[in-house]
Amino acid sequence: MDYRVLLFYKYTTITDPETFAAEHLEFCKDLELKGRILVATEGINGTLSGTKADTDKYMEQMKADERFEGITFKIDEAEGHTFKKMHVRPRPEIVALDLEEDVDPRELTGNYLSPKEFREALLEEDTIVIDARNDYEYDLGHFRGAIRPDITRFRDLPDWIKENKEQFMDKKIVTYCTGGIRCEKFSGFLLKEGFEDVSQLEGGIATYGKDPETKGEFWDGKMYVFDERISVDVNQVEKTVVGKEWFDGTPCERYINCSNPECNRQFLVTEENEHKYLGACSHECASHERNRYVKAHNISEEEKANRLENFKALV
Ligand SMILES: [Zn+2]
Repeated sequence: MDYRVLLFYKYTTITDPETFAAEHLEFCKDLELKGRILVATEGINGTLSGTKADTDKYMEQMKADERFEGITFKIDEAEGHTFKKMHVRPRPEIVALDLEEDVDPRELTGNYLSPKEFREALLEEDTIVIDARNDYEYDLGHFRGAIRPDITRFRDLPDWIKENKEQFMDKKIVTYCTGGIRCEKFSGFLLKEGFEDVSQLEGGIATYGKDPETKGEFWDGKMYVFDERISVDVNQVEKTVVGKEWFDGTPCERYINCSNPECNRQFLVTEENEHKYLGACSHECASHERNRYVKAHNISEEEKANRLENFKALV
């Protein structure tokens, strides 16, 4: 375990994101780091992999820059790089929520809960816990009893809330996400929408899982991460599997992207069923002319037709 994965963000003013991104990319490349960083006038959001020595240098430099004063890094040990390339991209926002009227978390955001306070909130009866992530992240693992918004992109969350507002309006609301960044803006949005009692898990699931007191308690399944690892453990107290296999519903934590490039849906599937169903989520996707599985495995027309038959046995 000579490598690390860093997860970090900071809402701060970066006056010229284009120039900053170009310079920061060079800086990261010099340190032989790999990963993905988004930069906007509102701040920075990133995840990186690198050796212990190189990630140390990165964190030191960032902490020395007054724009990033107080930045916190969530650190995972790793066996090697968890990204293939290094990207630093200028963007309008560091997480895309696409609100008509943007929220600045430095001016408006929910109360911050420590892992311990969050664990207490999970047990309160009149508190609603909303998962601020996407459905495929929730399906692999989530806090026990948390609400699952039916969304595949973060920017669809505000509309989902507006449609389901009556359910939560008078309740105490607590939100959580992977590292905390999505909740910064989302909880601000909730306050703006008229919700009165809104809190967020500070540092996200990543911090909660490592906290010496909570040890990830009441988390079920695994946490989805946006790098080559795909998922990591959270709950150190007890392990459960909540992911369900797409075709047969058996416990499963193995994600693939649908082999139809136009679908690309992420779904949980066993290796056996991936082969059986041509790496696709549906008959339509399996029979798509540009199916990536068919190409990658050199499947003959005859064999393709055979495997397409497998879908007929599904209800
Ligand atoms: Zn598909």
